Amino acid sequence: MPVVRNPAGRYAPSPSGDLHIGNLRTAVLAWLFARSTGRRFVLRIDDLDRVRPGAEQRQLADLAAIGLDWDGPVVRQSDRLPHYRAAIDRLTAAGLTYECYCTRREIQQATTAPHGPLGHYPGTCRDLTETERAAHRTDGRPAALRLRAHATEFEITDELHGSYRGPVDDVVLRRGDGIPAYNLAVVVDDAEQRIDQVVRGDDLLPSTPRQAYLATLLGLPVPHYAHVPLVLNAAGKRLAKRDGAVTLADQLALGSTPDRVAAALASSLGYPPVSPAELLDGFDPTDLTQEPWILDENGLLQPARCP
Ligand code: GLU
Repeated sequence: MPVVRNPAGRYAPSPSGDLHIGNLRTAVLAWLFARSTGRRFVLRIDDLDRVRPGAEQRQLADLAAIGLDWDGPVVRQSDRLPHYRAAIDRLTAAGLTYECYCTRREIQQATTAPHGPLGHYPGTCRDLTETERAAHRTDGRPAALRLRAHATEFEITDELHGSYRGPVDDVVLRRGDGIPAYNLAVVVDDAEQRIDQVVRGDDLLPSTPRQAYLATLLGLPVPHYAHVPLVLNAAGKRLAKRDGAVTLADQLALGSTPDRVAAALASSLGYPPVSPAELLDGFDPTDLTQEPWILDENGLLQPARCP
């Protein structure tokens, strides 16, 4: 694999609302992985989907408040559309894309039939004739652009999960509204930002073989991955706003401080209740569990006492 010079790790939040404790914990881990291996740490705002006004500013302020810092300017995906278009054009020139006219509902109906994994695009539009395509175009249905994948599976290596093989399908590259899709944008960005270490929540592990395959098709290096456990609520579901005091602002309103929240995150990782900077020396990714942190209290987060 090509060696990336001056490589970076990153945190890439979607500015759809305030970061919750689980997001903050992932950000701390991404920072620790990057800083403990001498990498730059960059922040990227994944703002091609839902954006809530003011969320980005609050997210950056919260990350800084719990003791994280980053290198260089914050990058926004919405400023990088030409880069995604160029990558899509390269794939198209190589015969690796096709237009898809399916609605979400049609795909859902097709994928509940007993063929292929759930959510796997069944290839309805892959082999349309030119006449069929022309008919769809005159119907006026907006076309998405899909990858013409020549693999059904791809294997990646993950620092916590080891070898992980997962499905690859004809992933959407450009949505029907013309906006580049997340799976394409993330691959282009990571490579162009020289990010060779991707640390993120393990809910994204199943998408990773698709992204690594896409990187390979584009001739881009595949990053090192570490998919870290999420924070779940008492019912074992992904943390949500209704689960109580889940954001930094909620915790401050209960009388906590950013330092206490950072300390609680450290103790949730099995470390003494200290700041991210103080964790750096002793940080060892091989200590990390694959088990989620169950947040069964919905009030003030209490850092555990120093062991
Ligand atoms: N923006 C995505 C999210 O907040 C994460 C993307 C990534 O880390 O690759 O879920």
